[in-house]
Amino acid sequence: MHGCILFFDFFAALMYNTPSSHPHPLADFRYCPRCGSDTFAPHDEKSNRCPACGFTYYYNPAAATAALILNDRNELLVCRRANDPARGTLDLPGGFCDVGETAEEGVVREVAEETGLRVLRADFLFSLPNSYLFSDFVVATVDMFFRCRVAEDEAQPEAHDDASELLWIPLDALRPEAFGLASIQRGIRRFLDGATFPAP
Ligand SMILES: [Zn+2]
Repeated sequence: MHGCILFFDFFAALMYNTPSSHPHPLADFRYCPRCGSDTFAPHDEKSNRCPACGFTYYYNPAAATAALILNDRNELLVCRRANDPARGTLDLPGGFCDVGETAEEGVVREVAEETGLRVLRADFLFSLPNSYLFSDFVVATVDMFFRCRVAEDEAQPEAHDDASELLWIPLDALRPEAFGLASIQRGIRRFLDGATFPAP
């Protein structure tokens, strides 16, 4: 059986012209989750299909959010990541959207969970693709950046959940390279460029 998998991996690499350094995104998914067959294998470059029962699964990015929150001193709220990947580096409040919620609801929930702050308004700015290593598996995401306004009477955030520390950093002191996740680093650069920043 192992030989079959190796053979199929080799065949799939030829078929989809996939360099060996970029294995099929579902290479770890070798058994059909519906019928248990060991023939669950790449169908095209982004899906696996089970020839035994016909079940097909597509590898699509997960929706995620990142919040840009400024105080009245023009300082940006950033958090220090409590967990891998990129543990200890800077990040923005945010996270994966739950099934059934909008991205706006997701960013409101994540900001509340990580900082205790109540978002009154969330304006979409732009999105960036990212990949995120979790459980030794590459999770593809599309990160949606929101400019968030929070309740002013609750301007003392406290770190919870995925954040080990919260910091207000003046915009002119922000160093994008201190942000450990690639899309967040790119998002910070884009935010600082101001190209897509809406008027308050
Ligand atoms: Zn099956």
